[in-house]
Amino acid sequence: MQLPTELFVNGAWRHSAGGKAITLINPATEERIAEVAGAGLPDVNEAVESAHRAFVAGWRDLAPGKRTEVMFNVARLLRENLEWLAQLECQNIGKPISDARDEVGLGARVFEYYAGGITRFYGQTIPVARGGFDYTLRTPMGVVAAIVPWNFPFPIACWKVAPALAVGNCVALKPASLSPLTALALGKLAHEAGLPAGVLQVLPGSGQAIGDALVTHPLIRKISFTGSTAVGSRIMELAARDLKRVSLELGGKSPNIVFADSDWERAAETSPMSVFANTGQDCCARSRLFVERPIYEPFVERFVAATRKLAVGDPAKAETQIGPLVSAGQREVVEACLAGARAQGRTVAVGGERPCGKGYYLAPAVLLGVETADVCWREEIFGPVVCVRPFDDEAAMIQEVNASPYGLSGSLWTNDLRRALRVARQIESGVLSVNSHSSVHVEAPFGGFKQSGLGRDLGMNAMEGYTEVKNVYVAE
Ligand code: NDP
Repeated sequence: MQLPTELFVNGAWRHSAGGKAITLINPATEERIAEVAGAGLPDVNEAVESAHRAFVAGWRDLAPGKRTEVMFNVARLLRENLEWLAQLECQNIGKPISDARDEVGLGARVFEYYAGGITRFYGQTIPVARGGFDYTLRTPMGVVAAIVPWNFPFPIACWKVAPALAVGNCVALKPASLSPLTALALGKLAHEAGLPAGVLQVLPGSGQAIGDALVTHPLIRKISFTGSTAVGSRIMELAARDLKRVSLELGGKSPNIVFADSDWERAAETSPMSVFANTGQDCCARSRLFVERPIYEPFVERFVAATRKLAVGDPAKAETQIGPLVSAGQREVVEACLAGARAQGRTVAVGGERPCGKGYYLAPAVLLGVETADVCWREEIFGPVVCVRPFDDEAAMIQEVNASPYGLSGSLWTNDLRRALRVARQIESGVLSVNSHSSVHVEAPFGGFKQSGLGRDLGMNAMEGYTEVKNVYVAE
Protein backbone atom coordinates (compact mmCIF):
# COMPACT_ATOMS: atom_id res chain seq x y z
CA MET A 1 0.00 0.00 0.00
CA GLN A 2 1.07 3.58 -0.67
CA LEU A 3 2.47 5.83 2.02
CA PRO A 4 -0.22 8.34 3.03
CA THR A 5 1.39 11.74 2.43
CA GLU A 6 -1.45 14.25 2.02
CA LEU A 7 -4.13 15.67 4.25
CA PHE A 8 -7.30 13.60 4.57
CA VAL A 9 -10.24 15.97 4.36
CA ASN A 10 -13.82 15.35 3.32
CA GLY A 11 -13.22 11.72 2.54
CA ALA A 12 -10.36 12.38 0.10
CA TRP A 13 -6.67 13.17 -0.04
CA ARG A 14 -6.06 16.89 -0.29
CA HIS A 15 -3.02 19.02 -1.15
CA SER A 16 -2.04 21.48 1.51
CA ALA A 17 -3.08 25.09 1.08
CA GLY A 18 -0.05 26.99 2.29
CA GLY A 19 1.20 24.66 5.02
CA LYS A 20 4.82 23.61 5.37
CA ALA A 21 5.74 20.09 4.25
CA ILE A 22 7.05 17.74 6.93
CA THR A 23 10.08 15.53 6.26
CA LEU A 24 9.93 12.22 8.08
CA ILE A 25 13.13 10.48 9.17
CA ASN A 26 13.34 6.84 10.23
CA PRO A 27 14.95 7.11 13.70
CA ALA A 28 16.52 3.65 13.38
CA THR A 29 18.42 4.46 10.17
CA GLU A 30 18.42 8.29 10.10
CA GLU A 31 17.17 7.99 6.52
CA ARG A 32 14.37 10.03 4.98
CA ILE A 33 11.10 8.10 4.68
CA ALA A 34 8.74 10.59 3.11
CA GLU A 35 7.58 14.15 2.79
CA VAL A 36 4.10 14.69 4.20
CA ALA A 37 1.89 17.71 3.54
CA GLY A 38 1.45 19.99 6.53
CA ALA A 39 -1.90 21.74 6.88
CA GLY A 40 -2.11 25.49 6.44
CA LEU A 41 -4.69 27.80 7.97
CA PRO A 42 -7.13 27.47 5.02
CA ASP A 43 -6.99 23.70 5.48
CA VAL A 44 -7.91 24.03 9.14
CA ASN A 45 -10.92 26.16 8.26
CA GLU A 46 -12.02 23.86 5.48
CA ALA A 47 -11.61 20.73 7.62
CA VAL A 48 -13.46 22.13 10.64
CA GLU A 49 -16.26 23.67 8.58
CA SER A 50 -16.87 20.53 6.59
CA ALA A 51 -16.70 18.41 9.76
CA HIS A 52 -19.43 20.66 11.13
CA ARG A 53 -21.48 20.14 7.96
CA ALA A 54 -21.06 16.36 8.32
CA PHE A 55 -22.20 16.64 11.95
CA VAL A 56 -25.33 18.60 11.09
CA ALA A 57 -26.02 16.62 7.95
CA GLY A 58 -26.55 13.44 9.84
CA TRP A 59 -23.74 11.74 11.78
CA ARG A 60 -25.16 13.02 15.06
CA ASP A 61 -28.65 11.83 14.11
CA LEU A 62 -27.72 8.48 12.64
CA ALA A 63 -29.50 5.59 14.36
CA PRO A 64 -27.22 4.18 17.08
CA GLY A 65 -27.31 0.77 15.44
CA LYS A 66 -25.96 2.24 12.19
CA ARG A 67 -23.12 4.00 14.00
CA THR A 68 -22.34 0.71 15.72
CA GLU A 69 -22.13 -1.04 12.35
CA VAL A 70 -19.71 1.54 10.92
CA MET A 71 -17.50 1.45 14.00
CA PHE A 72 -17.27 -2.36 13.90
CA ASN A 73 -16.39 -2.08 10.22
CA VAL A 74 -13.59 0.34 11.07
CA ALA A 75 -12.22 -2.16 13.61
CA ARG A 76 -12.38 -4.94 11.04
CA LEU A 77 -10.47 -2.92 8.45
CA LEU A 78 -7.86 -1.96 11.05
CA ARG A 79 -7.32 -5.64 11.83
CA GLU A 80 -7.13 -6.53 8.13
CA ASN A 81 -4.46 -3.85 7.71
CA LEU A 82 -2.69 -4.53 11.00
CA GLU A 83 0.65 -5.49 9.49
CA TRP A 84 0.77 -2.47 7.17
CA LEU A 85 -0.11 -0.08 9.98
CA ALA A 86 2.44 -1.68 12.31
CA GLN A 87 5.18 -1.39 9.67
CA LEU A 88 4.30 2.29 9.14
CA GLU A 89 4.65 2.98 12.86
CA CYS A 90 7.87 1.00 13.11
CA GLN A 91 9.51 2.99 10.30
CA ASN A 92 8.08 6.32 11.32
CA ILE A 93 9.03 6.40 15.00
CA GLY A 94 11.29 3.38 15.53
CA LYS A 95 8.67 1.50 17.55
CA PRO A 96 9.65 -2.18 17.99
CA ILE A 97 7.53 -4.11 15.53
CA SER A 98 6.02 -6.46 18.12
CA ASP A 99 4.86 -3.43 20.17
CA ALA A 100 3.57 -1.75 17.01
CA ARG A 101 1.47 -4.83 16.19
CA ASP A 102 0.07 -4.88 19.73
CA GLU A 103 -0.78 -1.19 19.52
CA VAL A 104 -2.65 -1.53 16.24
CA GLY A 105 -4.59 -4.42 17.78
CA LEU A 106 -5.31 -2.18 20.77
CA GLY A 107 -6.61 0.56 18.45
CA ALA A 108 -8.97 -1.94 16.80
CA ARG A 109 -10.17 -3.09 20.23
CA VAL A 110 -10.90 0.51 21.15
CA PHE A 111 -13.19 0.83 18.12
CA GLU A 112 -14.89 -2.47 19.04
CA TYR A 113 -15.37 -1.40 22.64
CA TYR A 114 -17.02 1.90 21.71
CA ALA A 115 -19.02 0.28 18.88
CA GLY A 116 -20.49 -1.98 21.56
CA GLY A 117 -20.81 0.93 23.97
CA ILE A 118 -23.08 2.98 21.71
CA THR A 119 -26.23 1.07 22.63
CA ARG A 120 -25.20 0.69 26.27
CA PHE A 121 -24.67 4.36 26.99
CA TYR A 122 -27.69 5.28 29.10
CA GLY A 123 -29.24 8.43 30.40
CA GLN A 124 -31.31 8.56 33.57
CA THR A 125 -34.94 8.90 34.54
CA ILE A 126 -35.23 11.07 37.63
CA PRO A 127 -38.16 11.07 40.05
CA VAL A 128 -38.29 14.88 40.45
CA ALA A 129 -40.26 16.20 43.43
CA ARG A 130 -42.99 17.96 41.45
CA GLY A 131 -43.97 14.85 39.50
CA GLY A 132 -44.09 14.53 35.74
CA PHE A 133 -41.38 12.82 33.73
CA ASP A 134 -37.76 13.90 33.93
CA TYR A 135 -34.99 12.29 31.90
CA THR A 136 -31.48 13.02 30.71
CA LEU A 137 -30.06 12.81 27.24
CA ARG A 138 -26.40 12.55 26.38
CA THR A 139 -25.96 14.78 23.38
CA PRO A 140 -22.88 15.05 21.16
CA MET A 141 -20.99 18.33 21.24
CA GLY A 142 -20.19 18.99 17.58
CA VAL A 143 -16.65 19.07 16.17
CA VAL A 144 -13.90 17.81 18.44
CA ALA A 145 -10.24 18.69 17.89
CA ALA A 146 -8.11 15.68 18.83
CA ILE A 147 -4.42 16.59 19.15
CA VAL A 148 -2.16 13.61 19.69
CA PRO A 149 1.54 12.98 20.39
CA TRP A 150 4.24 10.88 18.73
CA ASN A 151 4.94 8.29 21.42
CA PHE A 152 1.82 6.12 20.92
CA PRO A 153 0.41 7.75 17.78
CA PHE A 154 -2.02 5.08 16.70
CA PRO A 155 -3.66 3.91 19.94
CA ILE A 156 -3.97 7.43 21.35
CA ALA A 157 -5.59 8.63 18.11
CA CYS A 158 -8.05 5.72 18.35
CA TRP A 159 -8.89 6.30 21.99
CA LYS A 160 -9.83 9.89 21.25
CA VAL A 161 -11.49 9.41 17.86
CA ALA A 162 -13.53 6.27 18.64
CA PRO A 163 -15.51 7.48 21.70
CA ALA A 164 -16.00 10.93 20.14
CA LEU A 165 -17.46 9.40 16.97
CA ALA A 166 -19.43 6.78 18.90
CA VAL A 167 -21.56 9.42 20.60
CA GLY A 168 -22.14 11.34 17.37
CA ASN A 169 -19.40 13.98 17.18
CA CYS A 170 -17.19 14.68 14.18
CA VAL A 171 -13.43 14.93 14.67
CA ALA A 172 -10.49 16.95 13.33
CA LEU A 173 -7.45 14.85 14.22
CA LYS A 174 -4.04 16.53 14.38
CA PRO A 175 -1.20 14.02 14.65
CA ALA A 176 2.24 15.06 15.87
CA SER A 177 4.54 16.31 13.12
CA LEU A 178 6.93 13.45 13.86
CA SER A 179 4.28 10.74 13.42
CA PRO A 180 1.48 11.50 10.95
CA LEU A 181 1.42 8.25 8.94
CA THR A 182 -0.88 5.96 10.92
CA ALA A 183 -3.31 8.81 11.67
CA LEU A 184 -3.65 9.47 7.95
CA ALA A 185 -4.10 5.75 7.32
CA LEU A 186 -6.80 5.68 10.02
CA GLY A 187 -8.70 8.50 8.26
CA LYS A 188 -8.63 6.67 4.95
CA LEU A 189 -9.50 3.23 6.35
CA ALA A 190 -12.34 4.62 8.46
CA HIS A 191 -13.78 6.24 5.36
CA GLU A 192 -13.50 2.98 3.43
CA ALA A 193 -15.28 1.29 6.32
CA GLY A 194 -18.31 3.50 5.80
CA LEU A 195 -17.61 6.63 7.84
CA PRO A 196 -19.25 9.47 5.87
CA ALA A 197 -16.99 12.11 4.31
CA GLY A 198 -16.06 14.86 6.75
CA VAL A 199 -16.81 12.91 9.92
CA LEU A 200 -13.09 12.30 10.53
CA GLN A 201 -10.59 14.81 9.12
CA VAL A 202 -6.85 14.27 9.49
CA LEU A 203 -4.61 17.32 9.49
CA PRO A 204 -0.88 16.82 9.95
CA GLY A 205 0.87 20.14 10.44
CA SER A 206 3.01 22.01 12.88
CA GLY A 207 1.32 22.53 16.24
CA GLN A 208 2.95 25.93 16.52
CA ALA A 209 1.65 27.01 13.13
CA ILE A 210 -1.93 25.68 13.19
CA GLY A 211 -2.52 24.77 16.85
CA ASP A 212 -4.00 28.11 17.89
CA ALA A 213 -6.25 28.30 14.82
CA LEU A 214 -7.59 24.82 15.47
CA VAL A 215 -8.12 25.30 19.19
CA THR A 216 -9.80 28.69 18.84
CA HIS A 217 -11.90 27.88 15.77
CA PRO A 218 -15.46 28.86 16.71
CA LEU A 219 -16.89 25.55 15.47
CA ILE A 220 -14.59 23.48 17.69
CA ARG A 221 -16.52 22.53 20.82
CA LYS A 222 -14.01 20.37 22.59
CA ILE A 223 -10.26 19.85 22.51
CA SER A 224 -8.92 16.48 23.53
CA PHE A 225 -5.16 16.68 23.89
CA THR A 226 -2.30 14.38 24.85
CA GLY A 227 1.20 15.82 25.07
CA SER A 228 3.37 18.10 27.14
CA THR A 229 2.10 19.98 30.18
CA ALA A 230 3.27 23.27 28.64
CA VAL A 231 1.15 22.88 25.51
CA GLY A 232 -1.77 21.45 27.50
CA SER A 233 -1.75 24.49 29.72
CA ARG A 234 -1.72 26.83 26.71
CA ILE A 235 -4.64 24.98 25.14
CA MET A 236 -6.62 25.30 28.36
CA GLU A 237 -5.93 29.02 28.46
CA LEU A 238 -7.10 29.51 24.86
CA ALA A 239 -10.12 27.28 25.37
CA ALA A 240 -11.16 29.25 28.45
CA ARG A 241 -11.95 32.29 26.29
CA ASP A 242 -14.98 30.59 24.75
CA LEU A 243 -15.48 28.03 27.51
CA LYS A 244 -14.66 25.20 25.16
CA ARG A 245 -14.47 21.81 26.81
CA VAL A 246 -11.02 20.31 27.23
CA SER A 247 -9.57 17.02 28.25
CA LEU A 248 -5.83 16.91 28.75
CA GLU A 249 -3.53 13.96 29.25
CA LEU A 250 -0.10 15.36 30.06
CA GLY A 251 3.21 14.46 31.62
CA GLY A 252 4.10 12.11 34.43
CA LYS A 253 6.87 11.17 36.82
CA SER A 254 5.36 7.95 38.03
CA PRO A 255 6.58 5.98 41.04
CA ASN A 256 7.33 2.28 41.25
CA ILE A 257 7.22 1.36 44.94
CA VAL A 258 8.65 -1.95 46.10
CA PHE A 259 8.11 -3.08 49.69
CA ALA A 260 10.30 -5.70 51.30
CA ASP A 261 7.24 -7.90 51.94
CA SER A 262 6.51 -8.17 48.20
CA ASP A 263 7.49 -10.71 45.62
CA TRP A 264 10.36 -8.33 44.99
CA GLU A 265 12.39 -10.70 42.78
CA ARG A 266 9.49 -10.66 40.30
CA ALA A 267 9.26 -6.89 40.66
CA ALA A 268 12.98 -6.56 39.91
CA GLU A 269 12.73 -8.74 36.80
CA THR A 270 9.69 -6.97 35.37
CA SER A 271 10.32 -3.37 36.42
CA PRO A 272 12.88 -2.46 33.72
CA MET A 273 10.16 -2.62 31.06
CA SER A 274 7.87 -0.48 33.24
CA VAL A 275 10.19 2.43 32.54
CA PHE A 276 12.23 1.49 29.46
CA ALA A 277 9.41 0.21 27.22
CA ASN A 278 8.91 2.55 24.25
CA THR A 279 12.47 3.72 25.05
CA GLY A 280 11.09 5.52 28.10
CA GLN A 281 8.98 7.83 25.92
CA ASP A 282 5.88 7.06 27.91
CA CYS A 283 3.89 9.36 30.17
CA CYS A 284 3.29 6.33 32.46
CA ALA A 285 6.99 5.37 32.66
CA ARG A 286 7.82 4.36 36.23
CA SER A 287 10.87 6.61 36.31
CA ARG A 288 11.10 7.02 40.11
CA LEU A 289 11.86 3.70 41.75
CA PHE A 290 11.35 3.58 45.53
CA VAL A 291 12.81 0.44 47.13
CA GLU A 292 12.40 -0.40 50.83
CA ARG A 293 15.80 -0.39 52.55
CA PRO A 294 16.08 -4.08 53.64
CA ILE A 295 15.89 -5.29 50.00
CA TYR A 296 17.54 -2.28 48.35
CA GLU A 297 20.87 -3.87 47.44
CA PRO A 298 19.71 -7.26 46.17
CA PHE A 299 16.82 -5.58 44.35
CA VAL A 300 19.12 -3.12 42.56
CA GLU A 301 21.50 -5.91 41.64
CA ARG A 302 18.69 -7.90 39.99
CA PHE A 303 17.12 -4.84 38.40
CA VAL A 304 20.43 -3.78 36.83
CA ALA A 305 21.08 -7.32 35.60
CA ALA A 306 17.59 -7.45 34.03
CA THR A 307 18.20 -4.06 32.40
CA ARG A 308 21.46 -5.32 30.88
CA LYS A 309 19.57 -8.20 29.27
CA LEU A 310 17.05 -5.99 27.41
CA ALA A 311 17.22 -6.41 23.65
CA VAL A 312 18.09 -2.95 22.32
CA GLY A 313 18.32 -2.58 18.56
CA ASP A 314 16.65 -2.69 15.19
CA PRO A 315 12.91 -2.11 15.75
CA ALA A 316 12.09 -4.15 12.64
CA LYS A 317 13.26 -7.34 14.39
CA ALA A 318 10.62 -9.30 16.30
CA GLU A 319 12.90 -9.89 19.31
CA THR A 320 13.72 -6.18 19.85
CA GLN A 321 12.36 -4.72 23.08
CA ILE A 322 13.91 -1.24 22.95
CA GLY A 323 14.20 0.76 19.74
CA PRO A 324 15.78 4.17 19.12
CA LEU A 325 14.49 7.44 20.54
CA VAL A 326 12.14 9.26 18.21
CA SER A 327 14.57 11.97 17.11
CA ALA A 328 18.11 13.27 17.47
CA GLY A 329 16.71 16.14 19.57
CA GLN A 330 14.94 13.81 22.00
CA ARG A 331 18.16 11.83 22.51
CA GLU A 332 20.07 15.04 23.18
CA VAL A 333 17.56 16.06 25.87
CA VAL A 334 18.02 12.71 27.61
CA GLU A 335 21.80 12.83 27.32
CA ALA A 336 21.89 16.34 28.77
CA CYS A 337 19.94 15.07 31.75
CA LEU A 338 22.38 12.18 32.26
CA ALA A 339 25.34 14.55 31.93
CA GLY A 340 23.82 16.76 34.63
CA ALA A 341 23.42 13.76 36.94
CA ARG A 342 27.01 12.62 36.35
CA ALA A 343 28.28 16.15 37.01
CA GLN A 344 26.53 16.03 40.39
CA GLY A 345 28.34 12.79 41.21
CA ARG A 346 25.39 10.43 40.72
CA THR A 347 26.18 6.85 39.71
CA VAL A 348 25.12 5.47 36.35
CA ALA A 349 24.97 1.77 37.27
CA VAL A 350 24.34 0.71 33.69
CA GLY A 351 23.60 2.27 30.30
CA GLY A 352 23.50 5.84 29.10
CA GLU A 353 25.88 5.26 26.20
CA ARG A 354 25.17 5.35 22.47
CA PRO A 355 25.65 2.00 20.83
CA CYS A 356 27.75 2.49 17.69
CA GLY A 357 26.26 2.88 14.24
CA LYS A 358 23.32 4.82 12.90
CA GLY A 359 20.05 5.50 14.68
CA TYR A 360 19.06 7.53 17.73
CA TYR A 361 19.75 4.71 20.18
CA LEU A 362 20.63 5.12 23.83
CA ALA A 363 21.24 2.23 26.22
CA PRO A 364 18.71 2.22 29.12
CA ALA A 365 20.29 3.93 32.12
CA VAL A 366 19.90 3.27 35.85
CA LEU A 367 20.83 6.19 38.13
CA LEU A 368 21.73 5.57 41.77
CA GLY A 369 22.57 7.95 44.62
CA VAL A 370 20.03 10.47 43.36
CA GLU A 371 18.76 13.22 45.70
CA THR A 372 15.14 14.35 45.77
CA ALA A 373 16.13 17.84 44.60
CA ASP A 374 17.83 16.50 41.45
CA VAL A 375 16.33 17.47 38.11
CA CYS A 376 16.35 13.85 36.95
CA TRP A 377 14.28 12.86 40.01
CA ARG A 378 11.79 15.67 39.65
CA GLU A 379 11.27 16.26 35.93
CA GLU A 380 9.87 14.05 33.22
CA ILE A 381 12.83 12.93 31.09
CA PHE A 382 10.87 11.05 28.41
CA GLY A 383 13.74 8.73 27.67
CA PRO A 384 15.29 5.50 29.00
CA VAL A 385 16.41 6.71 32.43
CA VAL A 386 15.29 5.55 35.86
CA CYS A 387 16.29 6.98 39.25
CA VAL A 388 16.39 4.61 42.20
CA ARG A 389 16.17 5.58 45.89
CA PRO A 390 15.83 3.53 49.06
CA PHE A 391 13.12 4.35 51.61
CA ASP A 392 12.69 3.51 55.29
CA ASP A 393 9.31 4.86 56.29
CA GLU A 394 5.99 4.34 54.49
CA ALA A 395 4.52 7.75 55.36
CA ALA A 396 7.65 9.67 54.34
CA MET A 397 7.82 7.70 51.09
CA ILE A 398 4.20 8.58 50.25
CA GLN A 399 4.93 12.22 51.00
CA GLU A 400 7.83 12.14 48.54
CA VAL A 401 5.72 10.36 45.90
CA ASN A 402 3.07 13.06 46.23
CA ALA A 403 5.61 15.90 46.20
CA SER A 404 5.65 15.64 42.40
CA PRO A 405 3.43 18.09 40.53
CA TYR A 406 2.42 15.12 38.38
CA GLY A 407 0.05 12.32 39.27
CA LEU A 408 -0.57 10.04 36.34
CA SER A 409 0.35 6.45 37.04
CA GLY A 410 2.42 4.14 39.22
CA SER A 411 2.97 0.69 40.65
CA LEU A 412 3.01 -0.64 44.15
CA TRP A 413 4.47 -4.02 45.13
CA THR A 414 3.42 -5.63 48.41
CA ASN A 415 1.84 -8.87 49.63
CA ASP A 416 0.18 -7.12 52.56
CA LEU A 417 -3.40 -6.44 51.49
CA ARG A 418 -4.05 -3.80 54.11
CA ARG A 419 -0.90 -1.94 53.10
CA ALA A 420 -1.85 -2.18 49.41
CA LEU A 421 -5.27 -0.63 50.10
CA ARG A 422 -3.85 2.04 52.43
CA VAL A 423 -1.04 3.16 50.14
CA ALA A 424 -3.17 3.00 46.97
CA ARG A 425 -5.69 5.30 48.65
CA GLN A 426 -3.07 7.87 49.62
CA ILE A 427 -1.15 8.17 46.36
CA GLU A 428 -2.22 11.14 44.26
CA SER A 429 -2.50 9.56 40.87
CA GLY A 430 -5.18 8.84 38.29
CA VAL A 431 -4.03 5.28 37.63
CA LEU A 432 -2.27 2.84 39.93
CA SER A 433 -1.49 -0.86 39.74
CA VAL A 434 -0.70 -3.26 42.56
CA ASN A 435 1.79 -6.06 41.83
CA SER A 436 1.63 -5.18 38.13
CA HIS A 437 2.83 -2.53 35.71
CA SER A 438 -0.33 -2.33 33.70
CA SER A 439 -1.71 1.21 33.29
CA VAL A 440 -3.99 1.08 30.29
CA HIS A 441 -7.19 -0.94 30.01
CA VAL A 442 -9.61 -0.13 27.21
CA GLU A 443 -12.52 -0.59 29.61
CA ALA A 444 -11.19 1.57 32.47
CA PRO A 445 -10.65 5.32 32.83
CA PHE A 446 -7.15 6.65 32.11
CA GLY A 447 -5.89 10.12 33.03
CA GLY A 448 -4.10 12.15 35.62
CA PHE A 449 -4.32 14.16 38.83
CA LYS A 450 -2.70 17.57 39.26
CA GLN A 451 -0.48 18.66 36.34
CA SER A 452 -0.88 15.28 34.66
CA GLY A 453 -4.17 16.39 33.23
CA LEU A 454 -7.87 16.78 33.28
CA GLY A 455 -10.66 14.43 32.21
CA ARG A 456 -10.33 10.78 31.29
CA ASP A 457 -9.64 8.77 28.18
CA LEU A 458 -10.93 5.20 27.75
CA GLY A 459 -13.74 3.36 29.50
CA MET A 460 -17.26 4.73 29.53
CA ASN A 461 -15.82 7.88 31.14
CA ALA A 462 -14.46 8.91 27.74
CA MET A 463 -17.91 8.66 26.15
CA GLU A 464 -19.27 10.88 28.89
CA GLY A 465 -16.48 13.36 28.20
CA TYR A 466 -17.57 13.78 24.59
CA THR A 467 -21.19 14.60 25.43
CA GLU A 468 -23.22 17.27 27.17
CA VAL A 469 -25.94 16.22 29.60
CA LYS A 470 -29.35 17.56 28.72
CA ASN A 471 -32.13 17.32 31.27
CA VAL A 472 -35.65 17.18 29.84
CA TYR A 473 -38.74 17.69 31.99
CA VAL A 474 -42.19 16.73 30.71
CA ALA A 475 -45.17 17.96 32.71
CA GLU A 476 -48.02 15.55 33.32
P1 NDP B 1 3.98 18.63 22.48
O1 NDP B 1 3.07 18.81 23.62
O2 NDP B 1 4.61 19.82 21.85
O3 NDP B 1 3.24 17.84 21.29
C1 NDP B 1 2.06 17.07 21.41
C2 NDP B 1 1.08 17.46 20.31
O4 NDP B 1 0.70 18.82 20.47
C3 NDP B 1 1.65 17.35 18.90
O5 NDP B 1 0.64 16.98 18.01
C4 NDP B 1 2.08 18.78 18.64
O6 NDP B 1 2.21 19.10 17.27
C5 NDP B 1 0.93 19.53 19.26
N1 NDP B 1 1.23 20.93 19.54
C6 NDP B 1 2.42 21.53 19.77
N2 NDP B 1 2.25 22.85 20.01
C7 NDP B 1 0.92 23.09 19.94
C8 NDP B 1 0.12 24.25 20.09
N3 NDP B 1 0.64 25.44 20.37
N4 NDP B 1 -1.21 24.13 19.95
C9 NDP B 1 -1.77 22.93 19.68
N5 NDP B 1 -1.06 21.81 19.51
C10 NDP B 1 0.27 21.88 19.64
O7 NDP B 1 5.11 17.63 22.91
P2 NDP B 1 6.54 17.41 22.22
O8 NDP B 1 6.33 16.54 21.06
O9 NDP B 1 7.24 18.70 21.97
O10 NDP B 1 7.30 16.67 23.39
C11 NDP B 1 7.87 17.45 24.44
C12 NDP B 1 7.71 16.77 25.76
O11 NDP B 1 6.34 16.62 26.08
C13 NDP B 1 8.24 15.35 25.83
O12 NDP B 1 9.63 15.31 26.02
C14 NDP B 1 7.45 14.82 26.99
O13 NDP B 1 8.03 15.23 28.19
C15 NDP B 1 6.10 15.47 26.82
N6 NDP B 1 5.14 14.60 26.10
C16 NDP B 1 4.23 13.92 26.82
C17 NDP B 1 3.38 13.05 26.18
C18 NDP B 1 2.36 12.26 26.91
O14 NDP B 1 2.07 11.15 26.50
N7 NDP B 1 1.74 12.80 27.94
C19 NDP B 1 3.45 12.80 24.75
C20 NDP B 1 4.42 13.62 24.06
C21 NDP B 1 5.24 14.47 24.75
P3 NDP B 1 3.67 19.14 16.58
O15 NDP B 1 4.19 17.78 16.69
O16 NDP B 1 3.36 19.56 15.22
O17 NDP B 1 4.48 20.14 17.36
